[in-house]
Amino acid sequence: MAELIRGKDIKKQIEEELKQEVEELKSKGVTPGLKVILVGDDPASHVYVRNKGKACERLGIQEETTELPEDTEEGKVLELIDQFNKDPKVHGILVQLPLPKHMNETNVLYAIDPKKDVDGFHPVNVGRLMIGDPDFLPCTPAGIQQMLIRSGNDPAGKHVVIVGRSNIVGKPIANILMQKKDGANATVTICHTGTKDVGEFTREADIVIAATGWPGTITGDMVKEGVVVIDVGVNRVDDPTKEKGYRLVGDVKFDEVEPKAKAISPVPGGVGPMTITMLMKNTVKAAKRTLSE
Ligand code: NAP
Repeated sequence: MAELIRGKDIKKQIEEELKQEVEELKSKGVTPGLKVILVGDDPASHVYVRNKGKACERLGIQEETTELPEDTEEGKVLELIDQFNKDPKVHGILVQLPLPKHMNETNVLYAIDPKKDVDGFHPVNVGRLMIGDPDFLPCTPAGIQQMLIRSGNDPAGKHVVIVGRSNIVGKPIANILMQKKDGANATVTICHTGTKDVGEFTREADIVIAATGWPGTITGDMVKEGVVVIDVGVNRVDDPTKEKGYRLVGDVKFDEVEPKAKAISPVPGGVGPMTITMLMKNTVKAAKRTLSE
């Protein structure tokens, strides 16, 4: 039986560490502050933002969400960001994506001060990671790195094959794991839809990270015995036996891959819970920095 790498449990460990860091900061007169901007009525976005608020509450981070109607002008959002950029009590700014179609997402994200960009999506932070001088790491990939390290599967010296090259998962996790640093230093291969035979690469991998958004992308015959697998995918598949009519599955055929794996992350309960935790970590980091400024 493969060991299960549960983000749910690792999240608890990191939250305990963060609680102490927040207390220490408070004893020095700094309360970490996060501002969230939520535009429109997207139900999933509302759920994410609510969960972020709950995490802040658990950790003692001051969080405030500004909810704006769907037809808000882009200028209004830029004004708010400018106000938060200038406010010393605000350490982190997060604009919940997706934004309504009439807004230019790039304009909005680029307006955030990179020192408060706790999502790690600003090109300054993306570029810093690329050149080996990272500041804020994007949250989902940073969570994946923590899952590997804290489950005793240090990627150093390992061959990691990442399936997917998006800007929010595939590319940044590749950049993180190839850093010449502790908890990284891996040999990294990226596969995508242009890869002729993904299995040819994944069969060589010590660690497979699947981030395609398609259930069943990684099958049992595509991995070697003893592989470590991180399944980032979150996909809804119809399931009339469930109250909601669907269930969540990853990108990996769990039943086929688990028997061959040394360790594997489940879906749900795997990568999912890590994203908000790493957002909290970035917010605390941003607040800590103010002590030395
Ligand atoms: P995305 O932007 O759609 O990117 C998917 C990537 O996978 C693309 O690079 C695509 O290649 C590649 N791909 C798709 N099918 C493939 C196949 N059959 N073989 C090889 N490569 C294939 O998706 P994303 O935003 O990275 O998200 C990926 C998955 O992770 C989704 O299920 C998403 O819901 C989940 N996710 C979870 C979390 C979390 O748990 N916290 C956070 C973010 C995302 P091309 O570039 O060639 O098109």
